[in-house]
Amino acid sequence: MSAKNVKNHSSEKQEQKQQQEEEEKFEKYRKAGKTAKEVREIARKIVQPGTPVIDICERIESELLSRGVGLSFPCNVSINNVAAHYTSPPDDKTVISERDVVKIDFGAHVDGYIADTAFTVSFNPEHNKLIEASERALEVAIELIKPGVETKLIGEKIEETIKGYGFRPIKDLSGHLLDQYFLHSSKIIPNISVPHGTKIEEGEVYALETFASTGSGSVTEAPYAYIYSLMPIRVPLRFKGSRQVLGLIQKDFKTLPFAERWLAKKTSKAGLKFAIRELTEKGVLRAYNVLSDKKGSLVSQAEHTLIVLKDGCEVITR
Ligand code: MN
Ligand code: MN
Repeated sequence: MSAKNVKNHSSEKQEQKQQQEEEEKFEKYRKAGKTAKEVREIARKIVQPGTPVIDICERIESELLSRGVGLSFPCNVSINNVAAHYTSPPDDKTVISERDVVKIDFGAHVDGYIADTAFTVSFNPEHNKLIEASERALEVAIELIKPGVETKLIGEKIEETIKGYGFRPIKDLSGHLLDQYFLHSSKIIPNISVPHGTKIEEGEVYALETFASTGSGSVTEAPYAYIYSLMPIRVPLRFKGSRQVLGLIQKDFKTLPFAERWLAKKTSKAGLKFAIRELTEKGVLRAYNVLSDKKGSLVSQAEHTLIVLKDGCEVITR
């Protein structure tokens, strides 16, 4: 009698427990995904010419919260050549215009398990091709996802698809692995062909995002940021206000990105500017500077979150 495949009772139990925990984790991802999908439908209706951007951000965030999920990051509303990382600062006066190409990007989380999704809206059919290019590239990428596939191949196909529409993919923005309370985990899925990549593995969860641009296909950082996140660095802080703001961040947002706008509701605005500056200069906060392609260009984005299964993937945000 061979004892090779006989597991002892306790390890079997442990395995069962692990499996159950995995399943619970995916259920949390699915709940986050389902909520994000519901709010996507509302978001599509409220993005209209004449609407203040701050109203869109706050409405989407409150729709998510009212469904019992957390905010994975501030609602991003990136217009025209702005590709990513714009959320309204406190007292934002920006209003959507009928000429705009608007990217709406937001995320829900359940117990730190994140669903991240984005879509693009325009009010001029002239931009339909640009929007279709990023959407099609996302579909092509989703079709490819399964264990063992090289991220390099996915990047190649995204690039090919977007170029086929006559646009450029944005080379310095990518899809990303998700982890509990970590929006940008260790692996990326590029928007272009790259020399080296990694392999997709079963059980991983990715936010896959594609960008098509009429511009250069590369973004530069603006000298301002409205979104920040906490870094694993602790240093002495000179100002009491900075220590207070740090306490709020640790308690409310953990390692997830947050908006200056959110903190402005909890503390004095003048003190807040000062605290954010000290925390950023000391490396305690990471600033997500607004990212744009060249002036006059237009960028579209599409994004879904998916769980990698044995022989494909499950998209949880559609
Ligand atoms: Mn996103
Ligand atoms: Mn993302």
